[in-house]
Amino acid sequence: MSATNLLDLLPAEIDSLTESLGAPRYRGQQLMRWIYRQGVTDFGRMTNLPRELLQALQERARVAVPVVERRTPSQDGSQKFVFRFADGARVQSVLMPDGDRLTLCVSTQVGCGFGCAFCFTGAMGLERNLTTGEIVGQVLGVMGTLTAGQRLTHIVYMGMGEPLANYAATVKSLRLLTEPQAFGFSPRRITVSTVGLVSGIEKLARENLRVNLAISLHATNNETRDRLMPVNKGFAIEELLAACRRFPLPFRQRMTFEYVLLDGVNDTPHDARELARLLKGIRGKINLIPFNDWQGAGFARPPLPRILAFQSVLLERGITATVRWSKGEDIGAACGQLSEAVVA
Ligand code: SAH
Ligand code: SF4
Repeated sequence: MSATNLLDLLPAEIDSLTESLGAPRYRGQQLMRWIYRQGVTDFGRMTNLPRELLQALQERARVAVPVVERRTPSQDGSQKFVFRFADGARVQSVLMPDGDRLTLCVSTQVGCGFGCAFCFTGAMGLERNLTTGEIVGQVLGVMGTLTAGQRLTHIVYMGMGEPLANYAATVKSLRLLTEPQAFGFSPRRITVSTVGLVSGIEKLARENLRVNLAISLHATNNETRDRLMPVNKGFAIEELLAACRRFPLPFRQRMTFEYVLLDGVNDTPHDARELARLLKGIRGKINLIPFNDWQGAGFARPPLPRILAFQSVLLERGITATVRWSKGEDIGAACGQLSEAVVA
């Protein structure tokens, strides 16, 4: 039997585990304090736990933080982490400082099966889903590298993979991140980005997680979106936006719509007007992402005046629209540039 990864377990499950090993439930809470407060993953260092429990844990469990295989700093202050899991699969996470924010972008799958035409991760196809422990393991792994004054403030699910296509592990990882006994992040500081998997959005709406949602829209008509994002053939724009309208947004929170700007494809002032029209009545803001290039992509970033003109149309209509100049472009860590091969 393979050992249980404690990073896969919610607090109540850890309590049950310690109980099943013959220790009282409060021992589970002590165990979690070691892992999530002290960052200690080696049972041998958990000095306030009884020897018999530690021995049982050594035999049956582990705290599997993935190995940081590579860490590449970017000129803009961000850092790309390449994590390797036990089976040799790799994913990337990107740490992005911005003023007093420190945001970590995590992956949910090795590769991605959605095949969006402009995305490098999409070009590699889906290798496998990550487990809950492998998702939160990226957070613990990065936390272990922070210096004394640094603290992660925000988590975004915008790395490799489609979070809602790995639904159960994603939702459980969100519970662990927001659980006070585990990571204890405020849900307002967590954003899940989705390609627009309507079935998943509707399920997520019922979870009462209160995290932020970001929707990758990227086109204003079904013909273009079909071409860019195959998922649109299953869930067209109207259906996606209807699900967004129904999504229970917490008080004062707005949904984010991501829109990658592709030269000559979706970047005209007409597209901007259409975008404004489509989002009418939705409490949302728009994040314009100038396309990040990768070899063989077949798309280009629009020239700056065109990007700014697109943004102006939205601003004139009273819509909050920011241009996200991706971090880590020089190290291949910007949105849509993530790809790591699996080694056999
Ligand atoms: N699978 C999820 C989350 C990961 S991608 C999703 O698609 O939403 C995070 C964001 O980067 C998405 O909005 C995605 O469309 C965008 N993106 C992908 N490739 C890009 C590229 N080459 N340039 C800019 N943004 C890109
Ligand atoms: Fe997958 Fe998101 Fe890339 Fe599309 S944009 S291929 S859904 S990671």
